[in-house]
Amino acid sequence: MDNKFFDLHTITTGAQAKRLVQPDSPSANVSTTPTIIQDVSTPSSSSKPIYDFSLPRIRIEQENDSVIQTIIYQIHHNKTHGSFTLEDNILYKIIGAGHNTIRLIYMPTKLIPELLAAYHDHPLSGHFGVTRTWYALKNKYYWPRMKQTIISYIRSCDKCSQFNISRHKPPGHLQPIQPPHEIFQVLGMDWWGPTTTSLAGNRYILVITDRLSGYVFAKASPTNTAQDTARILMEDIILVHGPPDVLITDQGTHFNNEFVHSLTTLIGCKHIFSTPYHPQTNGQTERWSSTFVTQIAKFCNTDHNNWDTHLPSIVYAYNHGLHSSSHFTPYQLAFGRRPRNSFEPPQSTFSFKKPHDYWMQIMNYRRIALQQAQNNIIHQQQLTKRRFDKNRSHPNFKLGDLVWLKVFLGRTKLAARYTGPTRIVQIIFPVSFIVEDENLQRFQVHSHDIRRVYSR
Ligand SMILES: [Zn+2]
Repeated sequence: MDNKFFDLHTITTGAQAKRLVQPDSPSANVSTTPTIIQDVSTPSSSSKPIYDFSLPRIRIEQENDSVIQTIIYQIHHNKTHGSFTLEDNILYKIIGAGHNTIRLIYMPTKLIPELLAAYHDHPLSGHFGVTRTWYALKNKYYWPRMKQTIISYIRSCDKCSQFNISRHKPPGHLQPIQPPHEIFQVLGMDWWGPTTTSLAGNRYILVITDRLSGYVFAKASPTNTAQDTARILMEDIILVHGPPDVLITDQGTHFNNEFVHSLTTLIGCKHIFSTPYHPQTNGQTERWSSTFVTQIAKFCNTDHNNWDTHLPSIVYAYNHGLHSSSHFTPYQLAFGRRPRNSFEPPQSTFSFKKPHDYWMQIMNYRRIALQQAQNNIIHQQQLTKRRFDKNRSHPNFKLGDLVWLKVFLGRTKLAARYTGPTRIVQIIFPVSFIVEDENLQRFQVHSHDIRRVYSR
């Protein structure tokens, strides 16, 4: 069996989850550990637990249950308790079922965890969900807020939290990033590839996208190291357009590296990491990648080894095409002019009396265009957000919360989907967190990747 499987069992016991919960947290007044009656005929500790829900045992536990005793007292004193009945000194709840009525054993509080363990955790019960567990119990037993107890019992089941597939949209609402005010102020940056090695030896493309204009820079490279990132960033962006305020990247090693860190320190920009696996903070680069792949495939030779020779012209076409969210071409927004089109005759010339007028004209045009671009981006973000957030939960995780963490790598089909518990030690962004496991290892995660640990 997979090692991970064992690891998970050794580190994720319910007792441990409980220990990690603040000791003063108001825990439920019922015990989590079912009373297990050992089979007396086999005194060995390895014998299977046997659950005892016999009427004699229930009678004894009912005698110790103050709520049940109050109802019995009222029945004895002719108070109105039409929906309960006593038989052989055991209290039953009477409910209508069609034309008939049925009697349900009033379960003493002390036996509820044991009953749920039997009907949910036991191998014959198979950790099924609320509905099945509820149907298995509802025609036999009764206690107040019975369904709610079942829901919270299953929600706090370690095994279910770690193994169950979520049938809902992954939680966490979209958190659009405010569009910047200036061109080349906020840049998204991501490596694309590896792809077929080109004749020139290239396998990767560094894609850098201006978040306001959508203007794309793309550079083919044989490798995608931190050095490559820094060199291309320096040569193609910083030494041409000046340093950006913020770089938004995924968290690949080629970015989250001292080399890039020192570069960002050197040029004085804030380096924001978006979360790995869920680069929703960097959607523009993603969008370009999908456009790029389609386009480049049309031009490639059959060996697919000349893609890098087509890269500049595809980038050119992209930058001069209307951008879906800004309604301008990225080039227009970035450089404040319409490019000459080689298929058209030169335009009739504009003349300005003084150079200053031309500058004022440009600035005016830019101001209006950039404002328009910002508004369009915001509008587009709102539409996307509405679609994304629809029927999606948004758990409000707080610092110190305990969470199960999705297993990303090396999970076999039968291994747990979630590991932990881990604790949220830093909130980077409303849906982006740093969690710490029991070995003090830290991971950056998205709210998609964590599930709340519910204590019992
Ligand atoms: Zn379970």
